[in-house]
Amino acid sequence: MNDNFLPFALPCIGEEEINEVVDTLKSGWLTTGPKTKRFQNDFAQFVGVDHALAVNSCTAGLHLALEAIGIQAGDKVITSPYTFTATAEVIRYLGADPVFVDIDPQTFNIDPYQLAATLDIVDGVKAIIPVHFAGQACDMDPILESAAEFSVKVVEDAAHALPTLYKGRMVGSLGDITVYSFYVTKTLATGEGGMIATANPEYAERMSILRLHGMSRDVFDRNSSWHYDVVAPGFKYNMTDMAAALGIHQLQKAESFQQRRAEIANLYTNNLNDLPLTIPYQADYSSHAWHLYVIQLDLATIDRNTFIERMAAAGIGTSVHFIPLHLQTYWRDRYDLKAEDFPVALDVYNRAVSLPIYPCMSDDDVDRVITQVRTILK
Ligand SMILES: *Cc1c(COP(=O)(O)O)cnc(C)c1O
Repeated sequence: MNDNFLPFALPCIGEEEINEVVDTLKSGWLTTGPKTKRFQNDFAQFVGVDHALAVNSCTAGLHLALEAIGIQAGDKVITSPYTFTATAEVIRYLGADPVFVDIDPQTFNIDPYQLAATLDIVDGVKAIIPVHFAGQACDMDPILESAAEFSVKVVEDAAHALPTLYKGRMVGSLGDITVYSFYVTKTLATGEGGMIATANPEYAERMSILRLHGMSRDVFDRNSSWHYDVVAPGFKYNMTDMAAALGIHQLQKAESFQQRRAEIANLYTNNLNDLPLTIPYQADYSSHAWHLYVIQLDLATIDRNTFIERMAAAGIGTSVHFIPLHLQTYWRDRYDLKAEDFPVALDVYNRAVSLPIYPCMSDDDVDRVITQVRTILK
């Protein structure tokens, strides 16, 4: 690797974030406190939702969401195989089982028609977890219609989708509960962190208690500073004020970050679309947060490992999103899945490469990526 290696992903942390963290350190409030409250309020306003609950990861948030809607052992939850394992592992936390439904070949999001067909034939489904892949919303109208028809809840995995609009409506105001990630590579980074959005006050109350050991302060003496009551075996999922200090300022930059990501995506698209590869498809019903820019190679031209190695040799980091869950040992063996069971996910995976895309990339960085991709594929 040469000295000026261009990483696949980098958080963009400014002086505002640094000063806010220093302020937190000096305040004595390291864990959940006033900054977390402020971040939640700002976030609720940004998304346009009544309740925003800060947690220490998207995984934690998805777990709380499934618990709140009442998922129990033996239930089934439909999701996409084309995601990170966190989306499905939280289903197992509750003793329930995922049912995977293949993706749409253009958007790589769950196929709403196969979803409806699956709901028709599989008994015991209690929820759907749509994943807004790369930052483009799933086609939510048919998904929400199917959910209503079969009386199942919708918990959205919006780890990539901040900010994303579906038909002009913010992701976070569509399904029953939506969960975001602030993991270091995501569009808004606090290192580790997540946020849950919901319009439902009962879910919000349940998740707020469960995220901190199942301790309720409200039920009993509101005037007492020491009294609490444990109402459930909860979790340790609360966000620290140090993370919230980052989040407050990252959120203020969410729109400008998104604009820069979109600019980079346009540069890639305009300068790569004559090559033997497939550029990302953009659905007319969604805006794009551009968490990822995923090209699909033409395997007759080059194999993926060679492509990735040549990018690395030129000092450019890339990644692959995702190795589908049905190819992973645990999911494959537990549910006896074959590679061909999800042919679209398999084909997309085989050809997919994610290029670097983040707001603090310079135009020179972007040019470097374009030039190298063109050199490899010309
Ligand atoms: C990153 C990611 C998660 C998990 O987020 P954490 O905050 O790291 O728990 C969940 N789902 C998807 C699709 C992701 O990309």
